[in-house]
Amino acid sequence: MLLEKERAELVEYCHRMQADELTVGTSGNLSVRRGDHVAITPSGAAYEDLTPESICVISVDGDHVEGSLEPSSEVPMHTAVYQRTDAAAVVHTHPLYASTVSVLVDELPPVHYMIALLGGRVRVAPYATYGSTELAENSVTAMEGRFGALLQNHGATTYGESLAKAYTRSVYLEWVCRMYHQASLLGEPHLLGDEEIARVAAKLDSYGQTVTSP
Ligand code: 13P
Ligand code: ZN
Repeated sequence: MLLEKERAELVEYCHRMQADELTVGTSGNLSVRRGDHVAITPSGAAYEDLTPESICVISVDGDHVEGSLEPSSEVPMHTAVYQRTDAAAVVHTHPLYASTVSVLVDELPPVHYMIALLGGRVRVAPYATYGSTELAENSVTAMEGRFGALLQNHGATTYGESLAKAYTRSVYLEWVCRMYHQASLLGEPHLLGDEEIARVAAKLDSYGQTVTSP
């Protein structure tokens, strides 16, 4: 079985995505790239029933390589991200607050410095039908210089150099959208400037335990 480790990791993160309420029902899809191959969740996956065997393997061009199930309908979006960035993993979700904000603004207002984890102000990709090449194109265009985007009237997509990083970005993006929603209920939120977000982005590179213990 190709990409055995990556398949197991995807199943684990699908379960997390459900537990963290980053999606609803069978919505959303995750993938991991290794070389010319991409392990991706099957279309219409009941996440609780997923096993490593049910994960599909496609080429970076979107051709079916292994797996008996139909790959996610968002293969065009995932492969577009791999073709246009150095991503090793893509996480597409339908979280409540990111989806809510996506119908209201063209860009998520920078209400918290942790938006720096996404590379700066997160844009909203214009609406296009799910699974379409137009949605794929709109998404990667909105992600230029960023690690993610909101998808208008749809949800959110993030990527990273590992599934853990891509997933963490989805968690923070949803949290900042939620915070923006909460703040907006109470008044007009103060916003951070691009310079400060860039400063935080540089600082985050060395955030946490950067020295591994012997
Ligand atoms: P799949 O179930 O085909 O992966 O699609 C879900 C989705 O989120 C479409 O945008
Ligand atoms: Zn979707």
